[in-house]
Amino acid sequence: MPAPEFQHTVGKTASFSGTALHTGDKVTLKLQPAPVDHGIKFKRKDLQDEPTIDAKIENLKTVERATTIGEGSVRVHTVEHILSALSAMGVDNAIVEMDANEPPIGDGSAQPYVEFIKKAGVTAQDEPRKFFDVREPMHVETKTGALLVLLPDDKFRISCTQAGPNNRFTQFLSMEITPTSFEGEIAPARTFVYYEDVEPLMDKNLIKGGSLENAIVVRGEAALSKEPLRFPDEFVRHKILDIIGDLALVGRRIRGHVVAVKPGHAANAELARALAREQARRSAMSAPRAIPIGDSGLDTGEVMKILPHRYPFLMVDRVIGFEGENKITAIKSITINEPFFQGHFPGHPVMPGVMQVEAMAQVASILLFKLTKTSSRVGYFMSADEVKFRKPVFPGDTIFIHAELTRARGNRMAKTKCYCVVNDAIVSEAELMFTFLDK
Ligand SMILES: [Zn+2]
Repeated sequence: MPAPEFQHTVGKTASFSGTALHTGDKVTLKLQPAPVDHGIKFKRKDLQDEPTIDAKIENLKTVERATTIGEGSVRVHTVEHILSALSAMGVDNAIVEMDANEPPIGDGSAQPYVEFIKKAGVTAQDEPRKFFDVREPMHVETKTGALLVLLPDDKFRISCTQAGPNNRFTQFLSMEITPTSFEGEIAPARTFVYYEDVEPLMDKNLIKGGSLENAIVVRGEAALSKEPLRFPDEFVRHKILDIIGDLALVGRRIRGHVVAVKPGHAANAELARALAREQARRSAMSAPRAIPIGDSGLDTGEVMKILPHRYPFLMVDRVIGFEGENKITAIKSITINEPFFQGHFPGHPVMPGVMQVEAMAQVASILLFKLTKTSSRVGYFMSADEVKFRKPVFPGDTIFIHAELTRARGNRMAKTKCYCVVNDAIVSEAELMFTFLDK
């Protein structure tokens, strides 16, 4: 389990105006900061009482041509491009306020959204992000020939094959999705439509805001647009953009590899639904985690070779891994047999905060021991700053203890930032300072 990654929101309000694709109306969109665990919500400023709609898969209404979400009779159409940009640029919590039923289409890509997210700024909050970790392969298939497979991976990757009618414009691309890769490689890719699909819509006047300025129109072998193609494989890039936007409806960041063949909004939404169902199942079970023993960590015996502490004061059961030179994660399982529960407090056992600080100090000193690579010097705990106890720890909890070296002065002094995490929530944190002395 890597060190906690924090939720993010936008730093300040930013706005962006343009034309709605389906109605052709002018629309102004405002992006506003929101608190932790809020998620992304759309707010219809133009309606009475300004109703909001959660960007969640439960609220998905239709997937024809674009993704529409709604609650009650309120709808927001074509949400996939802005959700894609928010998700890929790392915004977990925000309010998207708008004065129409659809965000502006811009140039048909996510680039205008990336620019306005950057204008608003992305800032860290103080709760860890929620992830969906893919534990075993999952897949969805539709009658139209779309296939999406999700495989375990410690990053978010998408490998996509796009193919048009009669396999025209078959393209493949595989990449890890990060804010940088999204901004440079995915966000500029524009919507594309097949002439035979849009002709009836144009006849019925259903895409009033549609033009060659916000979509590439494919007619036969030709790709028609106002400006030339931005990438030779622009279509598959836009397919990846849509996958990210539709999967954002899961409401958690995905650690996994999406392998997509001829994807579309319907298939993407079906995969998002499968993930949400699996997440609900996992939350209901809250199954114990499998914690590895192996080369990357240290078992109890190895921990005791480094730490002089013994019962009842050894607060580390196992080191589960190191990340580079500067980070460590360890665990301590708390049972009702812990001696401190006898007095803290009878009938209402909660783990004393100072014992959590002690656990963080022990884990940090294992990290420092690895760094100094000598057993003749030992790190002594000098000070604790910024100590915060956020949530109680009860018997039965497993604490993941993370420590990161933030400053070191030669072989004499080191500073660490430490967190105790239970069930993905930070229960305590501290900045601990150590000095080194000969044993
Ligand atoms: Zn799209």
